[in-house]
Amino acid sequence: MTTSKTVVVVGAGSHGIGSANHIKRELKDQGTVKLISISDNAYFLPAAIRLPLTRDYENIIYPLTDVVDKDVEIIKDEVLSFTDSAVTTKSGKVIEFDALVLATGSRWSSPVASTFDFGDNHEKYFEEQHDKIESAKHILLIGGGFVNAEFVGELVAKYEADIKSGAKKISIVHNADKLLPDGPFYGENLRTDITNWMKEHGVKLYLNSKGVVSPNDPHKVIINGKEEVEADLIYFGTGIKPIVPENDFVDLTNKQGFVRVDKTFQAKGVPKGNIFAIGDVNDFEYHGLIKREDWSKTIRKNVALYLKDGSKAKLTETSTFENENIPSVVSLGPKHGKGQLPLPLFGTVRAPEFLAVSMKSKTLFTEKVKKMTAR
Ligand SMILES: Cc1cc2nc3c(=O)[nH]c(=O)nc-3n(C[C@H](O)[C@H](O)[C@H](O)COP(=O)(O)OP(=O)(O)OC[C@H]3O[C@@H](n4cnc5c(N)ncnc54)[C@H](O)[C@@H]3O)c2cc1C
Repeated sequence: MTTSKTVVVVGAGSHGIGSANHIKRELKDQGTVKLISISDNAYFLPAAIRLPLTRDYENIIYPLTDVVDKDVEIIKDEVLSFTDSAVTTKSGKVIEFDALVLATGSRWSSPVASTFDFGDNHEKYFEEQHDKIESAKHILLIGGGFVNAEFVGELVAKYEADIKSGAKKISIVHNADKLLPDGPFYGENLRTDITNWMKEHGVKLYLNSKGVVSPNDPHKVIINGKEEVEADLIYFGTGIKPIVPENDFVDLTNKQGFVRVDKTFQAKGVPKGNIFAIGDVNDFEYHGLIKREDWSKTIRKNVALYLKDGSKAKLTETSTFENENIPSVVSLGPKHGKGQLPLPLFGTVRAPEFLAVSMKSKTLFTEKVKKMTAR
């Protein structure tokens, strides 16, 4: 390998930071790694759900320099477009590369959002969310996936007395008979437990239902085309939307907009083979952080191999979850949570509540996030 190789990583979320650190550690002084970030801060998504209520940012939104290795060059900018040799940024820079890693993630709806939406102005964003939540009498959530379930858990923890007295109402409209996505990752027991917990805590559930905001009134939701429900605050949790800067590649993305990749992280739609995509922006069936260390190690090896051998490089495949239950905890405020553990021979078993709480709900991983992210 010559000494002049440049790797550009776009997006400084958990996967972008992990990729940039690992690739630089692999290349050592034989290559430059540039990490392009919209914000000066990293935003740790699994703990985001508590922020609108606590606005305690410690270890959830923190300086990139706490977790990015010193010899990775951080460039504060937004990538607007890319080819197979350079990215163009909002400030007008053209940054050339030998290999590109897209780690641009996806857009999450409010109240989670992303640095792509609020940049460095997270305090303003979460202050606004907090005020809306405080003053709302009826909060209605469209979509009962894990993010909305966790958010409702936080609402119940804070407003339990108001919900009991009727001063505040929380509702979820969901398109199946149980909460959480009706896919391979969440078993029936976990879905049942979450659904029952909501009912027991006074959350009104509209199951097997579709909710749309009335075209005539932004505070009215029409359920199944018939029933009209008024709510002063409506949140959507109907899936993530991948963020892919402009490009001219044909077939780079699938129908939902995710970058099509092999298990090597190499983008299928790029003939030169020098563009990789990792994390929420790629088309892996599973998105999340459980496999983060494996993924960082694989992309590290593969980018280095590509830089050495070009399109002849023999790249390694990573492991991911496909069509199977995953180890998972759904937090329900700091004191409650439900989880599942897929075990060899036993199948998927319920995680005891104390374990779910100590593993996730209590701190949402914040005590170890910087170590985890920098690793
Ligand atoms: C409430 C919640 C709970 C979760 N709980 C868990 C859990 O318990 N376990 C688990 O494994 N996973 C969990 N997840 C999922 C996990 O957090 C995500 O899958 C993971 O953080 C995605 O990381 P990422 O690096 O791919 O994307 P992100 O963290 O979204 O990072 C992408 C970055 O790219 C930046 N960017 C985008 N476009 C550009 C551009 N053009 N130029 C420059 N920068 C750009 C964005 O601003 C952002 O900083 C949870 C997610 C949420 C929201």
